[in-house]
Amino acid sequence: MSRPSVRNLVLVLGDQLDRESAALDGFAADRDIVWMAENAGEATHVWSSQHRLVTFFACMRHYRDALREKDWRVAYHELSTRQSEDRGKDFAEILRNDVNKMRPEKLIVVEPGDFRVREMLRGTAKELGVELVERTDRHFFDTVENFRAFAEDRKSLVLETYYRQLRKREEILVDSAGKPVGGEWNFDQQNRDSFGAKGPPEHKSPRSFAPDAVTREVIEMVKERFGEHPGSVDSFALPVTRKDALAFLREFIEERLPRFGTYQDALWTGGDFLFHSRLSVALNLKLLCPREVVAKAVKAYEEGAAPLPAVEGFVRQILGWREFVRGIYWLKMPDYAKRNHLEAERDVPRYFWDGDTDMVCVREAMRNVIEHGYAHHIQRLMVLGLFAQLYGVHPYRFHEWHMAMYSDAVDWVSLPNALGMSQYGDGGIVGTKPYCASGNYINKMSNYCASCRYNYKKNHGEDACPFSVLYYDFLARHRKRFGSNRRMTFQMKNLEKKEASGELRDIRKQAEEIIGRERL
Ligand code: FAD
Ligand code: SF4
Repeated sequence: MSRPSVRNLVLVLGDQLDRESAALDGFAADRDIVWMAENAGEATHVWSSQHRLVTFFACMRHYRDALREKDWRVAYHELSTRQSEDRGKDFAEILRNDVNKMRPEKLIVVEPGDFRVREMLRGTAKELGVELVERTDRHFFDTVENFRAFAEDRKSLVLETYYRQLRKREEILVDSAGKPVGGEWNFDQQNRDSFGAKGPPEHKSPRSFAPDAVTREVIEMVKERFGEHPGSVDSFALPVTRKDALAFLREFIEERLPRFGTYQDALWTGGDFLFHSRLSVALNLKLLCPREVVAKAVKAYEEGAAPLPAVEGFVRQILGWREFVRGIYWLKMPDYAKRNHLEAERDVPRYFWDGDTDMVCVREAMRNVIEHGYAHHIQRLMVLGLFAQLYGVHPYRFHEWHMAMYSDAVDWVSLPNALGMSQYGDGGIVGTKPYCASGNYINKMSNYCASCRYNYKKNHGEDACPFSVLYYDFLARHRKRFGSNRRMTFQMKNLEKKEASGELRDIRKQAEEIIGRERL
């Protein structure tokens, strides 16, 4: 019997679960096949936490089922608990086997979100002698080419300039003359409070979605097969279908968006999500489209359900930062990944994997990472990221750790944030100065220090706060580099004072001791 011929094999990657995906344009159910593969190679090449694996595989299987409900043919490779049943050691091998069997005329894919994966696909298609059609990703507001045009002839890339251009072009929160609604482009002055002594006002935490049979099967498989990977899946509660993701979005807009801006930078013990949206997984795996998320937030403002500073602050994250870092990733790769401006060489400390530390701020953030594959932005930037930077972690290794531990991590967004914004490994492409601070900052924005055995005010001595010790050590290590950065004048003056008083010698000795310790 002759095999039915396949016209297009439409490849859908784990972070491309978009029902409106350009890859599906022109799909003919009788001639084309959607192709998806869970594979152990990707799960271990980028070392992935159990939470991250369940997130990706559960979302992929639900997406597959939704396509099959439309009677579309989907060739889907499921990982089972038995390694011996794997159809290939990695993505390329499984694809190669299927292409040899099905002999499609073309491979269709939407541009991947990972440089390495794109190169692997191009190489595999070439080797197989089959045409690979890469379609532009319509998920984003902007294209890689438009960002390239924006970047051309600019000495430095400034988020604010890019963001304003996009707001005007997309007519978001602007009047008919192209001026910003409310007279300002930016409401940071009114945003970013701490909670004060009383703590966070009463609010609802994000809704939990009990795993259905499909997700439970994935959880069992991951526990069995990848049980030695970090993280936990016992409290897995993320939305894994588009319908649930929409309900998640609705709930954020109603319950937490109104205070998103005010408490964007605040931290609190037990406050895993606070007023953040927790939408990054649904956005990055493309269960939700950024246009619909932004439109719903703007509508809440127009209907008087959320204040302008909160809505503008939220729109800035998605229309601004999310698009900006993607643009930088594709503009600068592959060299970007090799950057190490501060010549940092250390490994991520052990407590970044298991959260076993007396530092309350780090322990709290790590609890969130381990239980939920998540930490909110300030935990990422001003606790874990800050510590890694002061400690001297190699920026790419920090990115690799981030890719392993966070369920929303995809290369295009993790790399510029982790290596660039957080570690200053790019030397100032994403941000103009390193986000370095002492324990004072954490104390100002949280209640962590009150219950910590370390003293945030002390930068040497028995109970000195590791952040405060390493902060001055970091400034001293990089004195030559930062001495001429005008945005760091105040910090460098303080360093000089510590030196003049003789304290710096003790601080640096203690920093050496802290860095050498297995546990802090
Ligand atoms: P909210 O605070 O509710 O913000 C709303 C949305 O805005 C987010 O869902 C996200 O889509 C977008 N957003 C906000 N800030 C950024 C940003 N800097 N870059 C891109 N998008 C942004 N975000 C990821 O999605 N994946 C990552 O792998 C990732 N790695 C990061 C690593 C470090 C070291 C840092 C400092 C930040 C990283 N971010 C990453 C950005 C940001 O911290 C997360 O998007 C955010 O914490 C996700 O939580 P949320 O959905 O509750 O966000
Ligand atoms: Fe973190 Fe230092 Fe505060 Fe402890 S004292 S919570 S280590 S900043």
